[in-house]
Amino acid sequence: MSVNIVGGGLAGVEAAWALAKRGIKVNLFEMKPTAFSSVHKNENLAEVVCSNSFGSISLTTASGVLKKEMEILDSIVIEAAYKSKVPAGNALAVDRNEFSRLVTKKIINHKNIKVIRKKIEKTDDENIWIISCGPLCDNSLNKHLQNIIGEKFLYFFDAIAPIVYAESVDFSKGFWQSRYSDEKDYFNCILNESEYDKFYEELINAEKVEFMEFEKNYFEACLPIEEIAQRGKQTLLFGPLKPVGLEFDNKRPYAVVQLRKENKEGSLLGLVGFQTKLTYKEQKRVFSLIPALKNAEFAKLGSLHKNTFIDSPALLNCFLQLKSKKNLFFAGQITGVEGYMASASSGIYAGLSVNAFLRNKKFECLPKESMLGGLINYITTKEEDFQPMSENFGFINIGKIRNKKQKREKQAEIALDNIKKWREKYESDTA
Ligand SMILES: Cc1cc2nc3c(=O)[nH]c(=O)nc-3n(C[C@H](O)[C@H](O)[C@H](O)COP(=O)(O)OP(=O)(O)OC[C@H]3O[C@@H](n4cnc5c(N)ncnc54)[C@H](O)[C@@H]3O)c2cc1C
Repeated sequence: MSVNIVGGGLAGVEAAWALAKRGIKVNLFEMKPTAFSSVHKNENLAEVVCSNSFGSISLTTASGVLKKEMEILDSIVIEAAYKSKVPAGNALAVDRNEFSRLVTKKIINHKNIKVIRKKIEKTDDENIWIISCGPLCDNSLNKHLQNIIGEKFLYFFDAIAPIVYAESVDFSKGFWQSRYSDEKDYFNCILNESEYDKFYEELINAEKVEFMEFEKNYFEACLPIEEIAQRGKQTLLFGPLKPVGLEFDNKRPYAVVQLRKENKEGSLLGLVGFQTKLTYKEQKRVFSLIPALKNAEFAKLGSLHKNTFIDSPALLNCFLQLKSKKNLFFAGQITGVEGYMASASSGIYAGLSVNAFLRNKKFECLPKESMLGGLINYITTKEEDFQPMSENFGFINIGKIRNKKQKREKQAEIALDNIKKWREKYESDTA
């Protein structure tokens, strides 16, 4: 039996590679050059649409650890990236044309992979499919997916608020309380009037990323925080920074920024209502003016993009398989992972899942305490307000180690060890 993969982007090629290497025949459907999304420009597979950097390779960064995990899982993307590397310090940046050319060559030369240049508009019930059509998935397929999963489970843009590591928050500069109740689900970062004034001035003058032309129609319903601020100095005090329903020392604070747990362990805290188009550098600078976040370390920065993704926590099991239709698997940005490497690595895992499924072999979900396993666990179990996520150290909990570098090294060691053991077990379980 062969597997049909829709989309020869970063996730699709990884899934194809993982399957083909294990003797499974693959039809890799790529709509280019018969049709192009608004950002894809060349005919090759694994096109890198924007920055040519795949992020850091240092093992004290989440991105570096994820890349190492991908190497352990025989990533075709990482191999081609090292072969097409351009100087970029600690980052793995590539000559994008050379990178895509190398991946394409290797994929089309594999005897088990047939690359078919065709737009897929529908899946069927007879074949196994991996849907990896990316953040700008073609509309006809979107409509078909909506018919299968239900309209409300497919989203067309993301509105990501920044997420900080809980360990870096100064909890002496606020209090735990939910609005109008005694529950303690939110940490309220307090700002007095002069702190608010300063924050407001810097926010409205900060540098922003412009919406792309094709994105402009999508965001009326979900304004970035800086846009709300532009409507007047008091607007935020009636919006995301409103102090109503909250009391500290028997009085209502002037303004609060609420933080909410992003995972069960509480190691990640999201800034509620802070979706933003500020540049990453400016987000760090401006949001650090909130006293409790003065030394905050950001696990993820905010964004608003056109981005097609499904409600994975409701729809997928931990094997990236649709719960309601066992012949459909998903990979890449459409699952709600975010970024080149997160997308590519989810493609490897989807390939491995399908391999086991086809062989009727049982295997364990990825270990949660790793970058890829943490990511898959997050996107398949997040309880509410699901928004795309990328790799971060909040997935690997090891208690307190004061020295940050030592802590990151230990987390990296745990993650890599977990992935190595998982891979060994996977290969023996599916042999
Ligand atoms: C404008 C923009 C800028 C971005 N910049 C960055 C960045 O700088 N850094 C970063 O880490 N991430 C960035 N991303 C996110 C990045 O696109 C993804 O992380 C990554 O490319 C997703 O991989 P993927 O395989 O899921 O999708 P893609 O790489 O987009 O691949 C999907 C493939 O599916 C094909 N396809 C779509 N529909 C069909 C169909 N119906 N039939 C057949 N083929 C189909 C497409 O042609 C495409 O080749 C950006 C995204 C966008 C939209």
